[in-house]
Amino acid sequence: MSCQSQKVTTVQNTLSIEEKVDSLMKLMTLEEKIGQLNLPSAGQITTGQATNSDIAGKIEKGLVGGLFNIKSAASIHEIQKIAVEKSRLKIPLLFGMDVIHGYKTTFPIPLGLSSSWDMDLIEETARVAAKEASADGINWTFSPMVDISRDPRWGRVSEGSGEDIFVGSRIAEAMVKGYQGEDLALDNTIMACVKHFALYGAAEAGRDYNTVDMSKIRMYNEYLPPYKAAVDAGVGTVMASFNEIDGVPATGNKWLLTDLLRKDWGFNGFVVTDYTGINEMIAHGMGDLQQVSALALKAGSDMDMVGEGFLTTLKHSIDQDKVSIVELDNAVKKIITAKYKLGLFEHPYQYSNVERANKEVFTKENRRFARRVSAESMVLLKNENNVLPLKKSGTIALIGPLSNTALNMSGTWSVATDQEKSIPLLEGLKTVVGNKATIVHAKGSNVDYDIDFEKRVTMFGKEIPRDGRSDKDLLDEALKVASNADVIVAAIGETAEFSGESSSVTNLQIPQVQKELLNALLKTGKPVVLVLFTGRPLAITEEAKNVPAILNVWFPGSEAGLAISDVLFGDVNPSGKLTATFPMNVGQVPIFYNHKNTGRPLGNKEGRFEKFKSNYLDVKNEPLYPFGYGLSYTTFDYGTLQLSTKEISFSEKLTASVMVTNSGNYDGAEVVQLYIRDKIGSVTRPVKELKGFQKIFLKKGESKKVSFTLSIEDLKFYNSELNFIAEPGDFDIAIAGSSDFDFEEGFVLKNRE
Ligand code: BGC
Repeated sequence: MSCQSQKVTTVQNTLSIEEKVDSLMKLMTLEEKIGQLNLPSAGQITTGQATNSDIAGKIEKGLVGGLFNIKSAASIHEIQKIAVEKSRLKIPLLFGMDVIHGYKTTFPIPLGLSSSWDMDLIEETARVAAKEASADGINWTFSPMVDISRDPRWGRVSEGSGEDIFVGSRIAEAMVKGYQGEDLALDNTIMACVKHFALYGAAEAGRDYNTVDMSKIRMYNEYLPPYKAAVDAGVGTVMASFNEIDGVPATGNKWLLTDLLRKDWGFNGFVVTDYTGINEMIAHGMGDLQQVSALALKAGSDMDMVGEGFLTTLKHSIDQDKVSIVELDNAVKKIITAKYKLGLFEHPYQYSNVERANKEVFTKENRRFARRVSAESMVLLKNENNVLPLKKSGTIALIGPLSNTALNMSGTWSVATDQEKSIPLLEGLKTVVGNKATIVHAKGSNVDYDIDFEKRVTMFGKEIPRDGRSDKDLLDEALKVASNADVIVAAIGETAEFSGESSSVTNLQIPQVQKELLNALLKTGKPVVLVLFTGRPLAITEEAKNVPAILNVWFPGSEAGLAISDVLFGDVNPSGKLTATFPMNVGQVPIFYNHKNTGRPLGNKEGRFEKFKSNYLDVKNEPLYPFGYGLSYTTFDYGTLQLSTKEISFSEKLTASVMVTNSGNYDGAEVVQLYIRDKIGSVTRPVKELKGFQKIFLKKGESKKVSFTLSIEDLKFYNSELNFIAEPGDFDIAIAGSSDFDFEEGFVLKNRE
C-alpha cells in the first residue's frame, strides 16, 4: 500500500503546536485523516485481548482517533502501544470516559453536588476525579453536563446542576478548572467536554431524546449561559446534543456549532457528537448516512462517536465534492491539536501508569474527602420538633429497600467505580455509632410492586435482590423489628438507575409499595426519619405532611453510608440547598423560581385560587420546596438589607450587604443568596433572578456581614435583537436564604448621559 511505503518523518520538537500539527497533517493520507475523526466505544476489550480485537486492526491502520469506555491503565497502555508502535504515523489515541462524578472514588450525583453550592469543593471533586482517571489511563472526560432542566420527569436532571443559570454557570467553570487544571499536558489533568450542546434539558414532556423547540430569546437568556461559561473557562471539547434546535439536530446544526459556538463564542477546541448522534439524524429525517455524515462535518461536528458515519462515507463525499478537503482538514487539525495539548505525542503513556494507578486511585484520602462532600450535598427538607440529629444511644431501626445496597449508593454514571465497595447505610450507621447504640434492620418492602418496572430501574448490575416473601411478610417483619426501636430511619426512594439517561417517568411519587411501608412505620407512633434517595426532585407532598424529618441524600457516592450517618447524628450539620424546585405534583411541571410574571399573575400571597388569574383549580402555584431551600440544625437570622446607593450609573457599582447571625444551637454553614428583579424592560423579565451566592460558616451565636457587589454586567440580558444589554429603570433586590421571599428594597439604574 502506498501509505505503508511513505517515509515517516518525526515532527520536530522546537515547532509550535500549530506548526507541528500542520507538518504532521502533510504526512497523512485521506484515510488516516478520516480515521482521526473516528471514536469507537471499546467496552468489549479487556487486557490481553487488545491486539486481537477488531478495533486493534483499525488502530493499526490509522482508522481510530480515540476510544472510550475502556478501563484500567494496563488495558489502555496495551492499546496505546498499538497506535504508537504499530500504526504508520504513530499518532497516539485519546481515551475518553464518562467520569461524571468521580472515577473510582465517587462523589454525589451532579444534582446533589450542586446542592452543596460550594464551588471550591466542586472544583476539587473534578480535580480528584481527574487525578484518579488520568492515573488509570483516561485523558478525556465527557463532563461537565450543564444542561439546564426544569423538568424532573427527565431522568437526566440527576446529571446536571438544576434549574438556575447563575449557579449552573459557576459550576460549569469550576468543573472545567478542576478537570483541566492549569496545564493539560500534565499527567494528572484531563480534557473536559461540556455537554450536551445544546438545550438537551428542555426535551418536550421530559421524555429523553425528545424534540426541543424554544425561542432564541429564551435560549440566550436561560439555557445557553452555562455552556458559554464552560467555553470561557477554556473547556477543550464540546459534545453536540441529540435533540433538534430550530428544526435541525444539534449534530448537524451549523448555526449552533459554527456560527454561535466558534464565531460568536470563540471556541477553538473540537466538537464530538453524542453516541451515534450522526446516524440518528437518519431517523430525524435528515437523509441517508452519507448525507447526514456530510451535514454533521459541514456543520462543525469533528469527531464521530461510535456510529462510523464519517469513517464509512466521508471519502465518498469528498470524491463527489460534497465535502471539501478543507472542511475535513479543519476537523482533523482540531483533534490533533488536542492530542498535542494533552502532551500525548511526547508522552503517549503518561496517562496509563499502572504504578500510579495502584497508588493514587480510591485512596483513603480521596474517600475521606468524598465523605465530606457527600455530607455537604444533603438537603434537610423537614425537621419537625428537632427529631434530628439523632442520639447515638438506644435502639435505631433501619428499614427500607435502600438501607443495605452498596450497588445503589453511587447513582447513575458511575461507570468506573467498584460499586460493591461503596458503603451502604446499614454499614455506615453501625460504624458511626459503634457500640453506643443498637442498630436493627429489615428490608420492609421491595423497590416496587411491579417486578418488570423494578427490573427497568435497577439496570447495569445495580439490582436490589428481590425478596421472594410476600409484601405482607416483609412489612410484618419490618414492623416487628421497629417495635423495639426508639426511632425509625426509613431508607426509601429511587434506585441508582431510576434516574439518568433514558430514565424518564410520568409519576414523581415514591413507589407505592414504599409509600405504604412508610405509612405503616408512621402508624407505630415512633419518630420516623425519611432518608430519601433520589436522582430528581420528587413530589413527596404526602410525606412532607406526615413524616417529621426528611433528609434528602440524593445518591451520595462511595462513602454514602458514613456521610448519611454523619448528618443523621449531627457530626455534620446539613447545609445543602436545592438547585431544583420540588413540585407539589407532576402537573405543576415545569416549575421553577425564575419564571415570568404573565399578564395575570395571582395577586394573593396565600396562593388562594382566583378565577381568570394564572393558577390551577386543583393545586396552588407554589412548589413543595422552592429553589434555594434547605434547613440546618441551627437557624440563621437575616438583618436588614443595606445598599451602598439607591441609584447607579452604567459605570458604577452597587454593594448590597446583610448581617447574618447563627441564632440556633449548632455551628453551621449557610448559603446566602442574592436576587434581583428587573422591573421594567423592553422584553419581559423573570420575577426573580439569582445574581450571587456565598456559602458562609458561622459558629453558634456568631454574626457575619455578607456583601455582594453588582455591576452593569449583572443587570444585562439579551433583548429582542439578541443584544446583551442593560436597560435603565427600577430593580428590586434582596438577600435571602432561599428563593421564597418578597422583595422589599430596590435601586435604580440611571439613564446613560
Ligand atoms: C450520553 C452521553 C455520554 C455518551 C458516552 C451518551 O448516550 O448521552 O452523555 O457521554 O453516551 O457514554
